[in-house]
Amino acid sequence: MREGNSYRVSRRALDYLLAIYITSRRGNAARLTEISRILGVSAPSAHEYLAELISYGLVAKVGRGLYRLTHAGEKTLMRRIWAHGVLEEMLVRIFKIDVGAACSIASQIDLEIRVEEIEKICSVLGHPKRCPHGYAIPHIEDIAEDRIDQGYGRSCIRITSRASF
Ligand SMILES: [Zn+2]
Ligand SMILES: [Zn+2]
Repeated sequence: MREGNSYRVSRRALDYLLAIYITSRRGNAARLTEISRILGVSAPSAHEYLAELISYGLVAKVGRGLYRLTHAGEKTLMRRIWAHGVLEEMLVRIFKIDVGAACSIASQIDLEIRVEEIEKICSVLGHPKRCPHGYAIPHIEDIAEDRIDQGYGRSCIRITSRASF
């Protein structure tokens, strides 16, 4: 698992990042109990996997049972939200697939497609600012240059990896 251009982060890791992001959106740290509830896993198993994410530098422990995304973790999540939004927009605009189906297809392929390919699609679509649901899409250049603010991160992405726990 590395940062930079590579996008090889597991779906499970990204679901954890999303869960932490969702629960810490108002500026508070995310609680272990909340994270495990959102992910549908037990607190001990979430605790164990969070330790792994901490060792990758994606998550930081900020108190007893309290977690936050690191800067690298936030960027990793934003890249997925970008890829998801771009693919969703492509499916709806070009292939006329309905939004719900497009979202579920995008959720299954957004981690499989290389950043370079998403960049091409994004540019063909004219760098859409919002996904078909209306959620803001952070763009790869902004993510790389740290021009991401709190408006991003609200996303239609569903936590999908429950079955693999
Ligand atoms: Zn979606
Ligand atoms: Zn959407």
